[in-house]
Parts: sequence; C-alpha cells; structure tokens
Amino acid sequence: FEVYGAPIIGTNDEWQGIVLVFHDITELKRLEQIRKDFVANVSHELKTPITSIKGFAETLLDGAMKDEQALQHFLSIILKESERLQTLVQELLDLSKIEQHGFELQMETVDLVAVLKEAAAIFQRKAEEKGIHFYWHAPAAAYIKGDVNRLKQIFINLITNALTYTPKGGKVEIVIEEQAKEILLHVKDTGIGIEQEEIPRIFERFYRVDKARSRNSGGTGLGLAIVKHLVEAHHGYITVTSKVGHGTAFTVHFPKLFQK
Ligand code: ADP
Repeated sequence: FEVYGAPIIGTNDEWQGIVLVFHDITELKRLEQIRKDFVANVSHELKTPITSIKGFAETLLDGAMKDEQALQHFLSIILKESERLQTLVQELLDLSKIEQHGFELQMETVDLVAVLKEAAAIFQRKAEEKGIHFYWHAPAAAYIKGDVNRLKQIFINLITNALTYTPKGGKVEIVIEEQAKEILLHVKDTGIGIEQEEIPRIFERFYRVDKARSRNSGGTGLGLAIVKHLVEAHHGYITVTSKVGHGTAFTVHFPKLFQK
C-alpha cells in the first residue's frame, strides 16, 4: 500500500482530524515486475545469438577461414543465429502490436476450412521431410468472424509446435469440428507432451519447458503468447490436454457465425 495523509483544519484553525488515503499498488508493482522481467528476457534472448555471431566471425577472421570445413560450418552457424534474431525481432514486434490498445483485426466472414487448407499445404512437405504423418479432417466449410491473416498465424504457430515437439515416425492431426455454438480447431500430436504443472505457464511470454530443445528448433517462447492474444481477440479461448511421452492436443474454440 501507498499511504497519503492530510490534516483537516477547521475554520478557527482547530485540528479536526486527518484524511488517510490508502492506495493499493500490488497490481502496479506486479505490472512493473512483468515489464522488468520482459526487458531482461528480451535482452538475454538477443544477446545469445549476437555473442555467437560475433564469436564465430572473429574466429574466422583469426585464421579459421583458411580451413574450408570450418568456414562452411561457422558460416552456417552464423546464418542460423541471424535467422533466430530475425524471427525473434519479428515476433516481438507482432506481440507488441497485438498487446497494444486499439489493436485492430480486419474482421470479415472467413471459412476456417479454407485457412486450414492453405496452412496444411505449407506444412505437408515439412512433415514429410521430418518423417511425420500429417493429416487433417474438416467439414466442407466452417464460417467464423475473423481476420484471415491472424487466423493463419494461429494455425502456423500451433502446427509448427506440433511438428517441432513430435519425433520422427509420429503423427500430427488437424481437425475442424462444428458444434452447436462453437467451431473447434484441434491440433493434436503424438509428441513429447507437456507436464501437467507446466501447462498453465506455456502461454507466458518466453516460457519454454525445455529451453535448449526449443532454441535448437528455432523457438523463441513467444509463439503461444501470440496465439493466446489472437484467439482472445477473436472472442475465443484455447485449451490444452497433454500426456508426457504420448502427445498434446490444443483446442481453439471460436464462436460460431450464424448469419453470414
Ligand atoms: P517455442 O518457440 O519455444 O515453441 P511457444 O510459445 O510456441 O514457444 O511454446 C512454449 C513452450 O510450450 C515450448 O517451448 C514447449 O516447451 C511447449 N510446447 C508448445 N507446444 C508443444 C507441443 N505441441 N508439444 C510439447 N510441448 C509444446
């Protein structure tokens, strides 16, 4: 609490009492802490690839360049780390835009099945390359009110995760299901799964169950934070069920559109 005090003085200068104002600053303190953690996290996430890029470039200039194999290897690391930085900056910009007040979606009538088909086309080859069985089921069409590009982003982030956290030989299945009041999007995988107590935290910015694993696959820890904001901006919500070693299922609930 912050406390402000002021005396109450009567017309004849006599002391009549005191006014105390108690201001609850718990919420302000909490927000301030979140902001500080965020800045610390961003700095850390930016520093890691920069240190690596700088280190490998220096080693090359110090003579390693003469070794053809080292040259190839170090340059590919430099490229990978630069791509990390690029993704990170893009996702940070996205997140900050989405979190800003007045963030606007270009709402129109959207067929979620058409969005799924487009996303599936992007991922089919990636899944095959990784040896993952990738398939989808959907009705002929399923209409919601939404922003096509933002919806695509929800699909991309969820499917990228499913493919990232599922080993070779596994399955990733996307289902669109029409219910009485909602359109559901399920993204299911037979991957590594998530511990029960970790589930509430995976939507936090920068939270990763296994930092090394996420980093190796190019993850930033921002994907699900972005998904959650976007789903809520569409008046929906997202649920997760998971079993370690068996797989994970994310379900996005969108309000159904009754009149086109
Ligand atoms: P990242 O860029 O690390 O994937 P996300 O915000 O997309 O960040 O996800 C946060 C964390 O949640 C991931 O680091 C991972 O630990 C966990 N996670 C997300 N999706 C899955 C999944 N399909 N299977 C297992 N773990 C997952």
